[in-house]
Parts: sequence; C-alpha cells; structure tokens
Amino acid sequence: MSNIVAIVGRPNVGKSTLFNRLVGGRVAIVNEESGVTRDRNYGKSVWNGKDFSVIDTGGYVSNSSDIFEEEINKQVLLAMDEADVILFVCDVELGITDLDYSFARMLRKVTKPVYLIANKVDNGERLYDVHEFYKLGVGEEIFPISSINGSGTGELLDKLVSHF
Ligand code: GDP
Ligand code: MG
Repeated sequence: MSNIVAIVGRPNVGKSTLFNRLVGGRVAIVNEESGVTRDRNYGKSVWNGKDFSVIDTGGYVSNSSDIFEEEINKQVLLAMDEADVILFVCDVELGITDLDYSFARMLRKVTKPVYLIANKVDNGERLYDVHEFYKLGVGEEIFPISSINGSGTGELLDKLVSHF
C-alpha cells in the first residue's frame, strides 16, 4: 500500500471526526471479532482523482484523556512506519495541553511531512486562536479546519494529494 495519511493527536481533538470526513464512510477494514482491541482504523479516500488511505491511530484503545507517553509513542511509531504524510491534530477550543507538547516533541524527530491541524475552527472568530499553535514548533504548515462543518478541509486535501 502507498499514499497513506496517518492522523495522530491526544484524545478528543477530533481525530475520528476528521477521519470520517476524509473517508466519507469508505472504511476499508472492519474487524468484527469480539475481544480484539482495535487501536487503529483504516479508510479509503479520493480527491482530485487521487486515491489514498487514511489511518485513524487513536481512540480505539481508550477514549479516556489519561493517555501517557507509551500510547503517544505507539501512535507516532505506527504513523512513522506506515504513513507517507502525518496529520497532527490539535484543538483550538481547549488550546495547547501538555499532551500536545509530548506529541510535538516526538513528531519533531519525524522526517516525513507533518502538518499541524488546528481543529474546531468552526467560525472566523476562532481563527484568532490558531497562532498559539506555532509554539509547538512542529509541522511544515498549520491548517485551520472544522472537521464538523468541513471548512478548511478542501485546502488540506489539496496539500495532501500534492504528495501522491
Ligand atoms: P478523537 O478522540 O480525537 O478521535 O476526537 P473525536 O473525533 O471523537 O471528537 C471529540 C469531540 O470533539 C466530539 O464531541 C466531536 O464532536 C468534537 N469535534 C470534533 N471535530 C470538531 C470540530 O471541528 N468542531 C467542534 N466544535 N467540535 C468538534
Ligand atoms: Mg477517536
């Protein structure tokens, strides 16, 4: 497989909402076996005639906010191994947290393209909250988006498929 985008970030930033918006229901692998802990989900997407796959790395182990370095390492290593492009999702509603800094520290070592997604920018007012995310010092570019209403996702998709 190639043309793979991985979505990483702490719980509740909107990774799965973004995943669903990108794949629009085209989930590729569903493991129905009970007792199997799925720590990732794969979907397929197409934009401007280019096919790619999306991995939602988090939230299948635990939906709780108490995730630790181990879980962060797991997510980032998985993304580094499998993906061509990594989306690091943050949340303008809550702002930057310690967990975001932990992700940023690890992601700075990644040589693949990393984009910072400032999610939950549902309206123009929230654009003012995007600047603080430059403090994280990670990502080639910041994309303000709303995974709920879709704003900004077209620009993000244009950038993603430019790699494929
Ligand atoms: P995950 O834990 O990172 O996968 O986050 P989820 O996708 O489960 O979303 C966590 C919460 O944030 C849910 O209540 C979503 O509805 C909400 N959410 C996700 N994206 C947005 C967004 O763009 N705007 C707003 N206002 N809420 C969002
Ligand atoms: Mg999730």
